[in-house]
Amino acid sequence: MDVSSLLDGLNDKQREAVAAPQSSMLVLAGAGSGKTRVLTHRIAWLMQVENQSPYSILAVTFTNKAAAEMRERVEKTVGGNVGRMWIGTFHGLAHRLLRTHYQDANLPQSFQIIDSDDQLRMLKRILKTLNLDEKQFPPRMVAGYINGKKDQGLRPNHIDAGGFPLEQQLLNLYKVYQDSCDRAGLVDFAEILLRAHELWLNKPHILAHYQDRFRNILVDEFQDTNAIQYAWIRVLAGNSANVMIVGDDDQSIYGWRGAQVENLHKFLGDFPGAETIRLEQNYRSTGNILNASNELIANNPDRLGKKLWTEGKDGEPISVYCAFNEMDEARFVVGRIMDWQDKGGMLSECAILYRSNAQSRVLEEALLHKGIAYRIYGGLRFFERQEIKDAMGYLRLMANRDDDAAFERVVNTPARGIGDRTLDILRSTARNHSLTLWQACQRLLEEKVLAGRAANAVRGFMDLIIQLTTDTEEMPLYRMADTVIRDSGLKAMYEAEKGEKAHARVENLEELVTAARTFEMPEELEDMGELNAFLSHAALEAGEGQADAFTDAVQLMTLHAAKGLEFPVVFMAGVEEGLFPSKMALEEGDRLEEERRLCYVGMTRAMQHLYITYAESRRIYGREDYSRPSRFIKEIPPQYLNEIRLKASVSAPMANNRFNQQQKVFNDSGFAMGDRVTHFKFGEGRVTNYEGSGPQARVQVNFDDVGSKWLVVAYAKLQKV
Ligand code: ATP
Ligand code: MG
Repeated sequence: MDVSSLLDGLNDKQREAVAAPQSSMLVLAGAGSGKTRVLTHRIAWLMQVENQSPYSILAVTFTNKAAAEMRERVEKTVGGNVGRMWIGTFHGLAHRLLRTHYQDANLPQSFQIIDSDDQLRMLKRILKTLNLDEKQFPPRMVAGYINGKKDQGLRPNHIDAGGFPLEQQLLNLYKVYQDSCDRAGLVDFAEILLRAHELWLNKPHILAHYQDRFRNILVDEFQDTNAIQYAWIRVLAGNSANVMIVGDDDQSIYGWRGAQVENLHKFLGDFPGAETIRLEQNYRSTGNILNASNELIANNPDRLGKKLWTEGKDGEPISVYCAFNEMDEARFVVGRIMDWQDKGGMLSECAILYRSNAQSRVLEEALLHKGIAYRIYGGLRFFERQEIKDAMGYLRLMANRDDDAAFERVVNTPARGIGDRTLDILRSTARNHSLTLWQACQRLLEEKVLAGRAANAVRGFMDLIIQLTTDTEEMPLYRMADTVIRDSGLKAMYEAEKGEKAHARVENLEELVTAARTFEMPEELEDMGELNAFLSHAALEAGEGQADAFTDAVQLMTLHAAKGLEFPVVFMAGVEEGLFPSKMALEEGDRLEEERRLCYVGMTRAMQHLYITYAESRRIYGREDYSRPSRFIKEIPPQYLNEIRLKASVSAPMANNRFNQQQKVFNDSGFAMGDRVTHFKFGEGRVTNYEGSGPQARVQVNFDDVGSKWLVVAYAKLQKV
């Protein structure tokens, strides 16, 4: 590809950024101005024009999905494989680094990542051994404290708790928690970043190697980096790498998780040669949507300030709909989606955005009743389900005996006579002698401290783990998974349980074997072995992508999850005081501005049509609230808005058959979207989608107990309820 085509489809300012001489640069620009596009083209430019090897490039994106897309786009542009380029999220890249240099990071080779659920379990256990009351120290609060400190790069010895007893206790909990993680070879999400940063500081030769290598560093969505992420990039860049960051202070929405928009200013101070390029033309939204968004965000003080304009048409005004309750709201949204479809639009071009996950249920129900396929981003992840975590616990313990979180999870699952008393002895031995639970078992058995039956049970468990490890040593991953779910007794345990839930758990365990079979070893992780790579994959990357990504479906997600994306039609639902801005934000002053930025992010996702809805009364979190429209609506000048009036017919009673309308019957399956059906194994559920015809006809059913499944109609023996 020739050079000029690298600059095709870019405006002057964008070209200036893409083709800038090699130096550091800040691209500061509002939503939809092409920041991500510039970043992608810049990577291609560096390779093709500046002759930079992909090996010298490190690019940070906000999600793994964005990383994959960017890699693909670059490969298309340069017409070749860029495998040696590092591209990923901060967590993904830091993890890779720790795998490669585990010894220098003071980690065992088989260290494992724990998720927030594991972290809470560990904290609960620690609170118990320290005799602290969970009510006084809610594990979530303790976790928040620990993660917050780590995000700021602080170890316990950096913290001065002053004379405050509560702070003193939290600090102590941080210490004890960290000690047990270290003993067990476990790292939580915040720890991944902190360790990677410490690796730079403690091992100058490693740092020098990467500083030599990564001459070109690029970061998207920079406004949402936290202190430790910034420090990591800062140190890596040293004094000579070229760093391009792109961001928008108006879209900083992760302050509650420690993100620091000040990092934009810091960057300019730390890289004095860096030029700031501002992009001002918006390519995404109509004039009305863009102007309304600009006016809204102008209510925030302390902005870096920018003005966005568009060559595009004004388009229609933003529709604002006042619903009388949440069901009416949902029905309105679904009605507009059907209009869009009637005009030939795709479902996937429509997104429904909401502030709180709990809002999705009613929207889903309304979509179902109209037979409209939808997909939720961020539902319950496969790897977060109980039975999967059980099985993963065995695999983790096989990979690393010292993994206390895994040990706790499976030591008595299925039940093998290791009771609470024995566990308490194990825990206190571990704690008193700075041992992991596995080591505590060894010690107690050697010293013959445990009573005969307890000793036998513990020995049996240890033998099982050792046996599983030797049995599966030479096996491919999927056979290993299969052996483990069988020989651990997990499968039998769930098979013996009655009911649909248990059935589904067995199915999920079987699905784990499939997951292992289809697992593709990332090239860069080859050294760590298949099992470890699979375990990390489960902890790090689960849930971002979802199955059946190919059917045309409406996209549902929280406003946070929508960052960086765009859709022709956007609905923002529940724009009410107390919900958006949220109650919590209203109580804390500075949070209101972050909520406003979130509103700005939401509005600027829309390309052609934007609908804002609110309800006069809403049943949510199990209670009914009467609320006023959000102040954000009032902050938009009326000339950009079109208030849609309630139609008389809408107030018809909706009690039982709330979304009652004629339903689309699938020609082949005989079922209609929204039909309640029952399956001999999975129980009752609702039809949500279908595809194919004849013997290939399949329906998707959202089962009440086991979640969503695709079934072949010819075999499934579904019955209408
Ligand atoms: P956000 O702040 O929401 O992440 P962004 O600044 O990263 O937005 P992009 O997603 O890169 O913006 O671009 C927004 C849209 O405009 C995309 O559809 C992109 O393809 C398009 N676009 C960007 N630059 C141009 C251009 N010069 N000509 C035509 N279309 C463009
Ligand atoms: Mg972007």
